[in-house]
Amino acid sequence: MSDFRDLNPGLRHGELLTMSLTQPDRAKQNEHRAIVVGAGVAGSVCGRDLAAAGWSVTLLDKARGPGGRASSRRIEPHRFDHGAQYFTVRSESFQRGVDSMASRGTVKLWRPRTAHINSSGISIDDVDDEPSNRHPRWVACPGMNDLVRDLQHGLDINFQHHVERIERAADGWEVTCADAARTASAPNLVLAIPAPQATALLTDQPEIRCRLEAVRMQPCWAVMIAYDRTLDVPFDAARVEAGPLRWVARQSSRPDRSPLESWVLHASPEWSRDHLEAESKIIAEDLQREFERILQVAGLEGTVSPVLCTAHRWRYALVDQPLGAPYLWCAASRIGLCGDWCLGPRIEAAYESGRELAQCLLRRREARAQAV
Ligand SMILES: Cc1cc2nc3c(=O)[nH]c(=O)nc-3n(C[C@H](O)[C@H](O)[C@H](O)COP(=O)(O)OP(=O)(O)OC[C@H]3O[C@@H](n4cnc5c(N)ncnc54)[C@H](O)[C@@H]3O)c2cc1C
Repeated sequence: MSDFRDLNPGLRHGELLTMSLTQPDRAKQNEHRAIVVGAGVAGSVCGRDLAAAGWSVTLLDKARGPGGRASSRRIEPHRFDHGAQYFTVRSESFQRGVDSMASRGTVKLWRPRTAHINSSGISIDDVDDEPSNRHPRWVACPGMNDLVRDLQHGLDINFQHHVERIERAADGWEVTCADAARTASAPNLVLAIPAPQATALLTDQPEIRCRLEAVRMQPCWAVMIAYDRTLDVPFDAARVEAGPLRWVARQSSRPDRSPLESWVLHASPEWSRDHLEAESKIIAEDLQREFERILQVAGLEGTVSPVLCTAHRWRYALVDQPLGAPYLWCAASRIGLCGDWCLGPRIEAAYESGRELAQCLLRRREARAQAV
């Protein structure tokens, strides 16, 4: 995309619109434009709800494709959900969204055989006692990033647009991407990115920066590992309570995945923090060794050697200390912030945060319409 000023539908058809609109109409048309920086779950839901109410919304994301932290990585012939593993549903509004996606086949229930691993060994969970019986585990299909792809349906999204600067302009906000030729402006700006990344952009907004200081996020090293034979262990996913690893999951146990033997391993937040700047090759080797130790404890016979093993660093993975409010909105400068970090370390929190920020913007619009 050469110049995303042209990608905003409101701007693209600007000439035609001005011919038929009266002055107040034009003002309203103008006012209902927003740039959303970050097209993960929160930004996509916010953009979707604004667009559904007739707003002109442009989403910008630095990544190459949809997902954010609910991502999938293809390393042919394998495909890994190396970020969010599954999601649960507690609120009615998220349940409605999930029901709608389930009816399209975008999300399905995942029922892995689970285990707990600690320093005294492995205990296989009794299916009837499983916490997931109360809150079933959902996954998107065929990859976790299909959740975000579904939310983004019909939206104006610009990938590979890394926003480096945001500035107040006479009639709103101007954002500039890493490739400085790319700029966009709109009266309303939404930052739907992790709090530390938002802080870096908010150089002229000390009050908001101050609110973000309370938020803490933890890193996570993830390893994607594949074998050329099935590993005969009695679980598909396990919580690990000792050592560097925190979670391991067999990809083929998820619905609509390939039967190839591949696993995602997540290190604990503490271990990830202590090794944050290490080389990814070293991390992959360390966590591979840990995983194979677990496999031996789980009764795997013989030794195994992976056909693929690679690591990914999630610098801002999981919310440790949330904001404690569903979103931030500054009416004076018309900037809003949303994301899982507002409410908690879960996809549902990101969804609710994006939805509630959109509601806030739409309520303001209705209040103004009534005043007129
Ligand atoms: C390893 C790991 C395991 C997890 N496990 C689970 C789980 O099992 N269950 C669960 O519910 N949740 C889990 N989560 C958390 C879940 O992934 C998040 O809560 C959710 O995806 C957050 O969505 P978001 O939209 O708030 O943020 P993000 O998904 O982080 O989206 C932010 C987007 O902003 C973009 N961006 C950032 N900065 C810029 C910039 N300057 N310019 C342009 N674009 C930018 C990024 O590319 C990204 O796409 C896990 C996360 C990780 C990393």
